Amino acid sequence: MPPSLDPELRRALAERVRYCHELGIYDFYRREPRIPQPAETESAALEIISASLSSTSYSVSQSELREEMSARKSAVVAVVDKNDILEVVNPKPEYGVADPVAALKLIREDLGDCTRCKLHKQGRKQIVFGVGNPRAELMFVGEGPGADEDTQGEPFVGRAGQLLNNMIRAMGLRREDVYIANVVKCRPPGNRTPEPDECETCSPFLMRQIAVIKPKVVVALGATAAKNLLAMNSSLGELRGRFYDFKPAGVRSSDPSWPGARLAVTYHPAYLLRDPRQKGETWKDLQMVMKYLGIEPPKKTAE
Ligand code: SF4
Repeated sequence: MPPSLDPELRRALAERVRYCHELGIYDFYRREPRIPQPAETESAALEIISASLSSTSYSVSQSELREEMSARKSAVVAVVDKNDILEVVNPKPEYGVADPVAALKLIREDLGDCTRCKLHKQGRKQIVFGVGNPRAELMFVGEGPGADEDTQGEPFVGRAGQLLNNMIRAMGLRREDVYIANVVKCRPPGNRTPEPDECETCSPFLMRQIAVIKPKVVVALGATAAKNLLAMNSSLGELRGRFYDFKPAGVRSSDPSWPGARLAVTYHPAYLLRDPRQKGETWKDLQMVMKYLGIEPPKKTAE
């Protein structure tokens, strides 16, 4: 089992990824840590300097360079590993596919009969990929499938799903207008919270779904979704009540002009079933989203 990242390191990495995205850098690859040996460092640096000088018509011998280098022996010199230069980054199959329906299909095919994390062998009936409008302006992200979702293959179809449907209707929308997915796509046994390694393994597929759908707003339902999407470890109470700028980590959108989504955090409907007192606070979060999207709540009709 791969070790999970320290939350501070995870947050720092997420910030670096976001920063790279702002610079238009989307593809990353992992380089194994490598400590250069002093002799190797020196000769590699000499090679690099020598090559650059020869391309500018200077004539300097290796021994002259070695003399020059000896004065700076303590300096750190980066060694370029030729194998790293030649490493090829595989693009995702949906890259360059403008039609979100086709792109989502490619992501689903890539997921296949997934066995990437241990949830595949802990009693799941099927993978619950996601459902809704592939061009949705609003996307809801929950934690993981429960028993009903596992049976039906669709997220949020049990009691919590009925409540989410009511929330969507209260916003003046229909379930078919939005897109609904989870951080993990297989049911955790006994409805336990998905573990960090399961979220880390599965969430790249969610990120790819978001990059294809390009919603204006993502609503994270509950702490697990919020912490995974934002790579932050604060409590739900601290995270909700404001918007965050969000771009799915580690993936490229089919539309380079997509500025990313705004992300809001609110309570998970399953939590609201246990503690209905938080429904008012949830409604405030949804009203914030409606205001941003320019949605008027439906007029109440006289009974
Ligand atoms: Fe694969 Fe996600 Fe299911 Fe794990 S939870 S087996 S990563 S689809």
